[in-house]
Amino acid sequence: MENIVSSKALVETLKTQAKQKIKYLEETLGILPKLTILMAGDNPASKSYVAKKVELAKECGMESDTIYLDENKFLEYDKVSTDLNRMPEVNGFMLQLPCPNRLIEVNETLKDGFNINSIKDVDCLEEQTYAKMLDNEDEAFTPCTPLGILRYLEFLNVDIEGKHFAIIGKSRLVGKPLADLLLAKGATITICHSQTINLAKAIENADVVICAVGKKDLLNKDNVKPHHILIDVGINKVDGKLYGDVSEDAKSIAKIVTPVPGGVGPLTVMSLITNTIDACYMQNGLNRPSWQVK
Ligand code: NAD
Repeated sequence: MENIVSSKALVETLKTQAKQKIKYLEETLGILPKLTILMAGDNPASKSYVAKKVELAKECGMESDTIYLDENKFLEYDKVSTDLNRMPEVNGFMLQLPCPNRLIEVNETLKDGFNINSIKDVDCLEEQTYAKMLDNEDEAFTPCTPLGILRYLEFLNVDIEGKHFAIIGKSRLVGKPLADLLLAKGATITICHSQTINLAKAIENADVVICAVGKKDLLNKDNVKPHHILIDVGINKVDGKLYGDVSEDAKSIAKIVTPVPGGVGPLTVMSLITNTIDACYMQNGLNRPSWQVK
């Protein structure tokens, strides 16, 4: 369907720029950006996300590695994070979520002890990094999924200022930062979540509906309108096949829909790469590079 717009062209555009920026670093300073991913446990979905990140980093010409942590040895986390904060060759590091132990509190903030210095916090996991993002500080990192969605909106020529966005899902990694970022750009925001009583009514008048829940068919013919632009963030695996949160029948009703797979997901991974390149530039005294979506 013509109204389904994949992120493929946008990802390719960003990938080309990433390769150029990495080449510049290599030729002028003799360095390559490096991303380190920490992983605890053996959640199969997390493993596949980590593999995608490593693969894209490699394709762009960047260094990356994965450190597997023992989920029962909490002290090991503190030592690893202290070491990574100190290593000049590591420009960014992140902990793949969900983390199967008490390192992450219910609200997903990182516990004391494990610490990612803001200049290396390319997945925006720490509260001080989040605060810098809210203050619009030059060196602040935006969480990868919201950053990917902002780029997608620009690519789709969706104006933000003055428009009404309904965000479904209020998690620390997706819904909340997205609401803050869009609010800062002059949007009117409705945030919906599991306790929202009448979802159809709450999203009815929105220009753009961003759904980050993880419930197949949550957006369907009963709540989607022809004027809706739907950004589908959800990932649902059913019988080995991937689905978003938007039902098949809703896709033919909405004005624009992003697909799953091939929509927000690849942009999230791409944002991790662009954030790490930004980190490398800034840590080496260069201006933060700009990224074009077209
Ligand atoms: P989460 O579980 O932390 O949050 C889910 C949110 O959905 C909660 O805020 C909850 O209140 C809300 N919710 C639950 N049931 C609801 C309902 N019936 N109506 C309205 N709201 C409801 O999840 P998350 O980490 O934000 O991820 C959400 C989804 O997005 C998952 O499917 C996840 O796999 C996917 N995701 C995709 C990407 C990507 O790059 N494509 C990135 C992150 C998350």
